[in-house]
Amino acid sequence: MRKIKLIYIVGTGHSGSTLLDLIIGSSPEVFSVGELYFYSVYRNKEQPDEVQRTFICTCKKAFDECSFWRDINQKGDFKIKLRFSKKEVIKVMLYVLLPFLTPKPVNSFDDTHILLEEIYRKARQVKPELVYILDSSKSFVRLFYLLQIPDIEVYPILLVRDGRGVINSRLRMGQKMGFFSATLQWVLNSLIAKRLIKHNPRAIHISYNLFCQQPGEYIRMLNQKLNIHISEEAFIEDVAKTEYHNIDGNIIKFKGITEIRCDERWKEELSFFKRFMATILLYPFNTLLVKRDSLRK
Ligand SMILES: [Zn+2]
Repeated sequence: MRKIKLIYIVGTGHSGSTLLDLIIGSSPEVFSVGELYFYSVYRNKEQPDEVQRTFICTCKKAFDECSFWRDINQKGDFKIKLRFSKKEVIKVMLYVLLPFLTPKPVNSFDDTHILLEEIYRKARQVKPELVYILDSSKSFVRLFYLLQIPDIEVYPILLVRDGRGVINSRLRMGQKMGFFSATLQWVLNSLIAKRLIKHNPRAIHISYNLFCQQPGEYIRMLNQKLNIHISEEAFIEDVAKTEYHNIDGNIIKFKGITEIRCDERWKEELSFFKRFMATILLYPFNTLLVKRDSLRK
């Protein structure tokens, strides 16, 4: 059986993953499903967190009325894991941080591998030149397990945005977390994800801040590394023309893209104390993960 090729965006929420997902998904060889780890949430209309979801697909139809997902849902009762227990998260962190521990290959950790087969079959009808499915779930635990599954060939993309911007976005959205836990979460997420892809020849690391400055150069790199065809000149128009059926993600999936601009609102919105603390605490990590990436070493 051929392996499913899966592009996977890993990182922290509020790092521009929906934007990158839409841009990569505008290539004729890529079909994006958005944040696939919310599949069961959408299918069963669950509300797992403080975000009140309306379960609308990017095609603007309700998830259970969208023809793309309705056909797939009829194929089986796929269960996709959204949350992992603290024990599982710690286990994965240890595997990633301690290289002498070698994880055993697993055939499955949920139904992702069989769901991907159905998605691939259906997506070929939308995009005849299909090569990759794109999942922008972001969770490093999910990526860790996906990398163990022999039937899936994963192409990880680590996306990191300046931690100060991420923290401000999360606090602004009213997420139930304090400044310091948001800071710690960004650091841990980014470092572990970076470590997880360190020796992976298929992996790409993109700084969202650098991407916003020169999107054309990054699109060229993605096209070369993945052998896909995102338009360097007309990707904004292509995103508007592409048929998407993304699960969850940021509101821009409905509005579309008009320009690429880095959100620097943290400079005004964070208090002096938080701005000062975040700048000092995050300095080494921003230098390592945001000021350089696969394109700017
Ligand atoms: Zn749809």
